[in-house]
Amino acid sequence: MVLSAPNTGTAEALWALDHGSLTYDASLVVLGGSGVSVHPITSFLIKHERGLVLFDTGLDPVAADRQVEEYGELASVFDMRFSAENRVDRQIEKMGFSPSDVTHVVVSHAHFDHTGGLKLFPNAKLYMGLADLRFVFWPDGGAAGSCRWPDIEATRDFRWNPVVGDYDLFGDGSIVMLSLPGHTPGNSGLLVQLPGETLLLTGDTVHLRENIEWTMPMGGDHNTSQATDSIRRLQQIRDAYDAKVWIAHDNRDWVAFGGAGRYGA
Ligand SMILES: [Zn+2]
Repeated sequence: MVLSAPNTGTAEALWALDHGSLTYDASLVVLGGSGVSVHPITSFLIKHERGLVLFDTGLDPVAADRQVEEYGELASVFDMRFSAENRVDRQIEKMGFSPSDVTHVVVSHAHFDHTGGLKLFPNAKLYMGLADLRFVFWPDGGAAGSCRWPDIEATRDFRWNPVVGDYDLFGDGSIVMLSLPGHTPGNSGLLVQLPGETLLLTGDTVHLRENIEWTMPMGGDHNTSQATDSIRRLQQIRDAYDAKVWIAHDNRDWVAFGGAGRYGA
């Protein structure tokens, strides 16, 4: 559980971005779950004195209002909702920034609802677990169907920084990538120190609160045993840092944390 970096820094502010939604039964994302509901697709923008960090990028901008043409069955099976205003560039502008202001893009894992907007950030430093950068080109197991390798291929010449283990983005403990493998081989979360509080962004290590409450992974994880260990790690970091946990796909968290816009404003 231990994070080696000194915990001395603080990010300035965080915004949640709204990338539309997918609808599916809870049994798909937590063993023992049930009930169909709408699941938001969320990414986060974090301001730090040394840069503007984007955590995840939502869906492919070209798919706005033409989801089925771009995503096929993924769009129809999950009733994908994604309009032009949900594009990552539009969301960043809505928060008062330009996409070119983004200096660092951290991707939680190589699934389609997280990698779609990567191509819009040719000048940023990009970070993703090394294992996922490889996995996306030849995936296997239950997590394979959600990989979309063209999203990554389009960025092959970008400023990629493949990450192994945890990674403290600015060396001050304020924004730390957490290695949480299992959902995919290189899956990551993000620990964010904000003024007066700590946020734990789970990525898709968990999709619903029940994953954490029951220590229960989903059936489609790439490696169930690793995924369970990563949920335990989330629990430990949450408790050690007294962190608030924001599960990006859980609509209850979207509502509880205030939805799109500046967090805490
Ligand atoms: Zn996802």
